[in-house]
Formats: sequence, structure tokens, C-alpha cells
Amino acid sequence: MKILVPVKRVIDYNVKPRVKSDGSGVDLANVKMSMNPFDEIAVEEALRLKEAGKAEEVVAVSVGPAKAQETLRTALAMGADRAILVETDELVEPLAVAKILKAIAAEEEPGIVMLGKQAIDDDSNQTGQMLAALMERPQGTFASKVEIDGDSVSVTREVDGGLETVKLTLPAIVTTDLRLNEPRYASLPNIMKAKKKPLDTKTPADYGVDVAPRLTTTNVSEPPVRQAGEIVEDVDALVAKLKSMGVA
Ligand code: AMP
Repeated sequence: MKILVPVKRVIDYNVKPRVKSDGSGVDLANVKMSMNPFDEIAVEEALRLKEAGKAEEVVAVSVGPAKAQETLRTALAMGADRAILVETDELVEPLAVAKILKAIAAEEEPGIVMLGKQAIDDDSNQTGQMLAALMERPQGTFASKVEIDGDSVSVTREVDGGLETVKLTLPAIVTTDLRLNEPRYASLPNIMKAKKKPLDTKTPADYGVDVAPRLTTTNVSEPPVRQAGEIVEDVDALVAKLKSMGVA
């Protein structure tokens, strides 16, 4: 079985995003970019399934600018076998990404497409669900445990207040949650080896997908600045303060 892992190049999770002064979006000039953290978890899970003999090949795919090659090289350095870059300088919305992934899945015939539950830049949480709908395949979202058993996969999902386990017939779509695993770091020798692994470059047009945006972002703004705190003398002063604010 083959596992297809879509990985997105996003603003690094340690970077505090700055909103552009005209409110049109986040300023990405000279900002550190990395693989979306949920996608690292997806790569890790795919590699663990391969190491457990449940999968034969892990293929990473990214839709994005030429620089997304770096993200794919990271996936290859972690252990993925080969990669596909679908190159475009457009900001590709989840529906178009899902259409491209559907076309790649039709060629590659993976048993599982393992995505992150959401990309931390747009926080859409849509691509996996849209892909499952377009492919008419079952989906297990927010996975905290994945177990393959013959021609099905059991996915334990993190739901409000507990866990739910669903059994999906393969091929299926799985999206990863934070507690599924802890991704490995790529070792230096593996980073060197990754440079020689196959990386195909395609375009959205190769898959017949129009990536023109369907949405217009009307405004992006910073969260409100937190008010300064105040240290009060004792509990009585605290209660008086809360009463004066109308919260006690
Ligand atoms: P989203 O629906 O944008 O929150 O993204 C959910 C998941 O879809 C991500 O964690 C990735 O696995 C995948 N994905 C979204 N956009 C891309 C992209 N441009 N390239 C590759 N994978 C993507």
C-alpha cells in the first residue's frame, strides 16, 4: 500500500505573524517558513506504518511556490520515498488543493491520503474533508490513533469530551491531530540522502485544475492588545474591584 502525504509550506509556528499595514493579509517578507506542524505528524505516521510493514511507499506532495521544494525535502529527509511539487505562485484555496490531490490520487492510487487536520496559516480545516467528498471515500478526521487491519483502517478521533473510534474501508482519507505522535527530526545523513531522492515538478494545469481564487479576503486584523493587569492588596479589594467591573 502507498500513502500519500500532502505537506504545506507555512509560516513557522514559532514566528509571531505581522499583519500588513493595509490589512490585506499577513506579511511574509523575510519570515521563516516551515512544514505545517500537523503535516509533520502525518509524515511521521505514514513512516511508522511503513516501518511496521503496513505500507510500502510514502509519497509527499505539496502545492505551492518553488520554495515548497524545501518542505518536500524535509519530508524526504524524515524518510518519505519520493515527492511531487505542484508549482504555482497563486495562493491556492483548499478546494483547488483538494481537486489537485484527487487527480494525483487517481494516478498514484494510495491506500491512505494522510493530511494534517489544518494548515496553521489559513486555519481552514477543509482540505481533507473536501478531498474525501470529491473522491467519494471514507474519512477519519482529527486522528489520535491509526491502526491498519487488512483492508480497513481504524481511526481514533479526538472529539469534544472524549474519543471516538471509526473503522474505514480502504482507500480512505485520514487527517492528523496533535497527539497522534511526536515527529522525528531528520538526521544530517538523511538530509544529505534526501537531496538525491526523486522530486517531480508539475503544475495545476497538468491536472486540469483552475486555481483562481473563489474567495476575497476583505480584512485581516491583529487580535486586540491585552489590557495591563493590576495587583490588588487582598481578597476584599479583589471582590470590590470585580463588583465595580460588574463581574461579581
Ligand atoms: P487546510 O484545509 O488549509 O486547513 O489544510 C489541511 C491540510 O491539507 C494540511 O494540513 C495539508 O495536509 C493539506 N494541504 C492544504 N494546503 C496544502 C498545500 N498547498 N499543499 C499541500 N498540502 C496542503
